[in-house]
Amino acid sequence: MNSPATALSIPKTMKAWVLGDPEQLRLVEKPVPEPGPAEVLVRVDAVAICGTDVEILTKGLPAWIQGGLPFNKNFTPGHEYMGTVVKLGAGVDEYAIGDRIAVEVHAGCGRCERCRMGMYTACLNYGLNYEGHDKGHRANGFTTDGGFAQYAVNHVNTLIHVPDGMSDEEATLIVTAGTAMYGLDALGGLIAGESLVVTGPGPIGLMSVAVGKALGAQPVILTGTRDVRLNLGLKLGADHVINIGRESPVEAVKRITSGKGVHYVMECSGAPNALNEAMDMVNRGGRICLAAFPGEPVPVELAKLVRNNIYLYGIRGEGNSATHRAAALMAQKRFDAKLMHTHTFALDELPTAFKYVRERIEDAIKVVIKMR
Ligand SMILES: [Zn+2]
Ligand SMILES: [Zn+2]
Repeated sequence: MNSPATALSIPKTMKAWVLGDPEQLRLVEKPVPEPGPAEVLVRVDAVAICGTDVEILTKGLPAWIQGGLPFNKNFTPGHEYMGTVVKLGAGVDEYAIGDRIAVEVHAGCGRCERCRMGMYTACLNYGLNYEGHDKGHRANGFTTDGGFAQYAVNHVNTLIHVPDGMSDEEATLIVTAGTAMYGLDALGGLIAGESLVVTGPGPIGLMSVAVGKALGAQPVILTGTRDVRLNLGLKLGADHVINIGRESPVEAVKRITSGKGVHYVMECSGAPNALNEAMDMVNRGGRICLAAFPGEPVPVELAKLVRNNIYLYGIRGEGNSATHRAAALMAQKRFDAKLMHTHTFALDELPTAFKYVRERIEDAIKVVIKMR
């Protein structure tokens, strides 16, 4: 059944964007890739642009191709995509041709200490997937070709069935919700009834509000500078929003929690003083997850962390099968991720779509490329 003979008709070449010099994207014709054992070929139907894509376009990192920066290597970025399975590699029976799937980014090597622990987003063989150094690690859009193209190859471990009735655009947000989910449940151990502050209403921050609320956090408090984003946070489940231009976030959190502080802070702003403020918002023994970071080294009052037994986590992406749990919450309509999708463009219009993200034109939040 699952032989290549059952494959849908697939062209030999495809349109794909590749990274040239920094800031330079070129639309080229590339061979359609072949799925290997435990892999499938995905026809990309929609792909969202992430803040990290902008980082890659500008600085290269965290993309890492053939042991170096990703420029001029025929590399296709894009990691928040969804599509249709059109061809199965050897031994694949977990998915069938025609299945609608969303993806998570990281397929670890499966053989290092971290992968063996389930921490494949922290694979010790990151970027080791090329000739002479092939440990089998893949992170599409970072270390292997991604979704700003008509087709991509994915390991079965990186696929999630798209819930029935969910649009292509919404399905691109499953991986974003998965990152928030991993930061809250597996990494930080958030349980129902615990209090949560999310600092910074970018896509991960807004998803952290939505997922935190769906997991039973109480109260959920969101801080930020723009009322339009904070209002969206309210629609996604925040109990309180704090505009830090008008009110000290630390004082506001203390007021809302009757002086106690919260159990957990999810830091999504990258502001230079965010960690210091987070340490003033959590209670003793509380936890802080850093999902963003400032561009420069910053002073941190470490004594406060030590004296108050505060736990600190860094998060890179959507580990521990969190995308599956996030998709389950979205299938149950526990929050409306569609509210975050603001703009749609065609594949040819990728540079314009990037411009909308970078300049936040028309309050762009999640900008999606739709293939047809
Ligand atoms: Zn992303
Ligand atoms: Zn590994």
